[in-house]
Amino acid sequence: MKIIDIIKQEKPTLSFEVFPPKTSDNFETVKTATEQIAQLRPDFMSVTYGAGGGTSEYTPSIAQNIQQKTGVPVLAHLSCVSSTKDEIHKQLDSLREKGIENILSLRGDIPKGMSKEHLDYHYAYELTKEIREYGGFCIGGACYPESHPESENSFKDIEYLKMKVDAGCEFLTTQMFFDNNVLYNFLYRARKAGINVPVVAGIMPVTNPKSIKRICGISGTALPQRFIRIVDRYGDNPEAMKQAGIAYATEQIIDLYANGIRAVHVYSMNKPDVAAKIIENISAIIEK
Ligand code: FAD
Repeated sequence: MKIIDIIKQEKPTLSFEVFPPKTSDNFETVKTATEQIAQLRPDFMSVTYGAGGGTSEYTPSIAQNIQQKTGVPVLAHLSCVSSTKDEIHKQLDSLREKGIENILSLRGDIPKGMSKEHLDYHYAYELTKEIREYGGFCIGGACYPESHPESENSFKDIEYLKMKVDAGCEFLTTQMFFDNNVLYNFLYRARKAGINVPVVAGIMPVTNPKSIKRICGISGTALPQRFIRIVDRYGDNPEAMKQAGIAYATEQIIDLYANGIRAVHVYSMNKPDVAAKIIENISAIIEK
């Protein structure tokens, strides 16, 4: 099923992101965790590509396994900056063969020291165009409510985002954010710039405060004082931090739905217990 047909429905949707294993050693563990998350019956799941500790090699197989075993539609991430056109076409062939109908089209982070001169792809919009020409996939793209860290300024970031949507993105998924007003402000600016595709809000339940400070530093995501106080207070107590992180994410999700956002994507970090708790907390709100 195409993601666009899922998120265009009137009802609120909830989906989860997972990442593939880094090596063959933990393939089975990751496969089991992702199946357990799929068994919670989210509206769809996404599988990252070469990010979050996973490698590109396993994205199609983890995606196929989720879809075949549970019937939950899958969105496979695909990044282009480190690939040749040939490699991208092989990935597209593989995804099509495996019955994957949805791709999140990404540039990916430019590896340190890599010369930009001879790259086949410089920006995600080039990949998006190529996937559209290949045909048959529903295509999504990434967006950044607090602007992409490399962007000149927020106006330019929105201008380039519009180019990406015009190249073929049917929906956008946001970078995580911890203050919903940041998203509402971004949506206002995006709509004003003529970006009218559905935007899926990305929410991260923080259970590991050490990694979140590092990730937010890299991605340019701001941590509100209210959130920092929670981390300062409970960061050294894993069980308390997990409860507080899930509660914070739950509150964000409820506020998003209450303000008319219909699609929420939770960065599950491959943790079935966290995903289950979030679903339990909002079960009546997302009643099928
Ligand atoms: P782009 O849309 O190409 O934008 C990158 C930068 O270039 C921005 O600053 C933009 O303003 C600028 N820009 C865009 N077009 C132009 C232009 N025509 N001229 C000049 N400047 C331009 N990474 C992974 O490796 N694997 C994943 O699975 C993954 N999943 C992600 C999922 C989500 C929801 C998000 C938000 C990010 C994800 N990322 C992933 C990270 C992403 O790859 C990086 O943030 C990367 O640096 C940018 O990718 P992009 O697709 O947004 O790039």
